[in-house]
Amino acid sequence: MKDKTCIFCQIVEKKIPSYIFFESDTNLAFLDIFPVSKGHTIVIPKNHYKNLEDIPDDELSKLFKTVKQISNKIYRKLKIQGYNILQNNFQAAGQVINHFHVHIIPRSRNDGKLQLVIPEDQSKEEELKNTLNLLVE
Ligand SMILES: [Zn+2]
Repeated sequence: MKDKTCIFCQIVEKKIPSYIFFESDTNLAFLDIFPVSKGHTIVIPKNHYKNLEDIPDDELSKLFKTVKQISNKIYRKLKIQGYNILQNNFQAAGQVINHFHVHIIPRSRNDGKLQLVIPEDQSKEEELKNTLNLLVE
C-alpha cells in the first residue's frame, strides 16, 4: 500500500536517499533532515496511511513498540536528557507529510525547544462541562 507521490513512501522504496537506522518488516526509522535537535527521528509504518484516523490498530501497536525501542536507543546512545514524542494529525495541527509518522525529538534542559505553554487562566467550569457533554454523548 504505497502512494507514488508520497516522500515517505519513496523513502520506504529507497527511491530517495535517507538516513535510515532501523528497519523491520512493517516500520522504518530515519533521521529528520530538518532536525529540531540532534538525533531528531521519524518513525513510520511502511504502508501508506494518512494519519492516526487511518492506521489500523495492529499496525499502530507495532509502530509504537518501535517508537519505544528507538526512543530508548536514542536516549542511551546520544546521552540526551529527555525526549518528546510528537505526532501531528491534519494540516491545522502542523501535519506536512500525509503519511502517518511519529517524531522523536531529543531534549536537553533549558534548550528552549517545543515548550507547551500552559495558559495562566483556568477554564471556566461551565465551559469544561459543555465540552465534557460533547465528549460523553
Ligand atoms: Zn506514503
